[in-house]
Amino acid sequence: MRYVDHFIHGGTAGLASTRKHAVMDPNNGGQQAEVVLGGTDALERAVAAAQAAQPAWAAMNPQRRARVMFEFKHLIERDMQPLAELLSSEHGKVIADSKGDIQRGLEVVEFCCGLPHVLKGEFTQGAGPGIDVTSMRQPLGIGAGITPFNFPAMIPLWMGAMAIAAGNAFILKPSERDPSVPVKIAELWLEAGLPDGIFQVVHGDKEMVDLILDHPAISAVSFVGSSDIAQYVYSRGVAAGKRVQAMGGAKNHGIVMPDADLDQVVGDLCGAAFGSAGERCMALPVVVPVGEDTAERLKAKLIPAIEALKVGISTDPDAQYGPVVTAQHKANIERWIQTAVDEGSELVIDGRGFKMQGHEEGYFLGPTLLDRVTPEMTSYHNEIFGPVLQIVRAKDFEEALVLPSKHQYGNGVAIFTRNGHAAREFAARVNVGMVGINVPIPVPVAYHSFGGWKRSGFGDTDQYGMEGLKFWTKLKKITARWPDGGGDGSNAFIIPTMG
Ligand code: NAD
Repeated sequence: MRYVDHFIHGGTAGLASTRKHAVMDPNNGGQQAEVVLGGTDALERAVAAAQAAQPAWAAMNPQRRARVMFEFKHLIERDMQPLAELLSSEHGKVIADSKGDIQRGLEVVEFCCGLPHVLKGEFTQGAGPGIDVTSMRQPLGIGAGITPFNFPAMIPLWMGAMAIAAGNAFILKPSERDPSVPVKIAELWLEAGLPDGIFQVVHGDKEMVDLILDHPAISAVSFVGSSDIAQYVYSRGVAAGKRVQAMGGAKNHGIVMPDADLDQVVGDLCGAAFGSAGERCMALPVVVPVGEDTAERLKAKLIPAIEALKVGISTDPDAQYGPVVTAQHKANIERWIQTAVDEGSELVIDGRGFKMQGHEEGYFLGPTLLDRVTPEMTSYHNEIFGPVLQIVRAKDFEEALVLPSKHQYGNGVAIFTRNGHAAREFAARVNVGMVGINVPIPVPVAYHSFGGWKRSGFGDTDQYGMEGLKFWTKLKKITARWPDGGGDGSNAFIIPTMG
């Protein structure tokens, strides 16, 4: 049985542990590996290695740190295919989606190649007589990342690259469900020339998360996962005096105005609702047609398009999506579909009971379409995180605007329209963090920032871009005075008075 170990101080830890977690292959339901679930000894070793390495890394000039980023980028590109295959085998997403997962992380690495430019800081000459003021961003020391199963490459790459490029040491606690790609990432950082101890991986579950949150040497924690755990991580980390950002769950809506290009919308919805089996925080699991006529026209086009979707094993190049991550998650999704039916929504297409020939034990689900879902239903209120699309009909623009704005989650939202005024109005007024206009999955590019609102994000900074830099650094302000040296006391510093 393949064994997934921690990656500490430049290599595997080899620590004895009786606690392990089975890593499954969602394509066939078989166990393919086991991952160690670590505790105090693993974290203490990682922290000690990070403490030893971080000061020299922070002191290295930023262009030399950037050279490591450039080299790392090349190595990820070199290994894209095997990384994608490994990722798909543990997560279940199709290879093209795994490559996308890696690529979106790599774009943040590319941003970090230019970090010397943005780390320059600010300078004012002559803020007073002989006085200059400098603001500079300094690393925090040791930061940690705790990441979800659904983007095992992208999110560790986002957090790790930003933290490291800014001069920190970074300890990653990836999801125990697909832990192997994060270890490969650690190996590639080392091959790229990153010193031992700057990017490390400790595996575990709640026990390891709590140890990280309470550890006095860890200054900052970046978390991505479900909302209840995000809120818990945020509260406990802040109580321990850390800087914490914690991204949570989502239920993104797509508003379809009567003038939208419905053929484009249907194509976009099929990709955004069902791609990666709906296991994306930026998936679009709720569609809101505006007006009954729009709803009927959309539904008529959606049904054949959804029925034509090809579900397959993750190595099938023709498959549009693969299995979900675990048997337990599959059962949860099936329960939510039943709840939606019990609550009175109309089951238009039922994806339960789908069997993949030759892979009957795999965690496959066909696509599900539910109509006449209403805001009072728990199946609307909660995240299902599977290949399930819900139609919530709105009578007009104002009613459509209220739905995502009042929802507990506020990660992403999209509007489909040809009307510039409606789009502009919607983008300005909707109470959601990331907005797409005719863009179904509005993940901002790496030099902007990523983050949701309400129960989709705890803490006040986003991931990557300038927000990420702000999170991973602290601002030092230096006021320097170089008097002209009269020697008669005339240069004595006078504290400015208010008013
Ligand atoms: P999860 O919350 O179950 O796990 C996330 C991390 O928390 C994992 O590393 C896990 O080991 C750890 N964890 C699990 N239980 C814990 C506990 N009781 N105490 C402390 N730590 C615990 O999330 P998941 O199922 O791996 O990922 C899917 C979720 O992540 C979805 O809700 C999805 O919307 C969300 N997500 C959000 C974003 C975003 O940017 N907002 C991005 C990706 C995924």
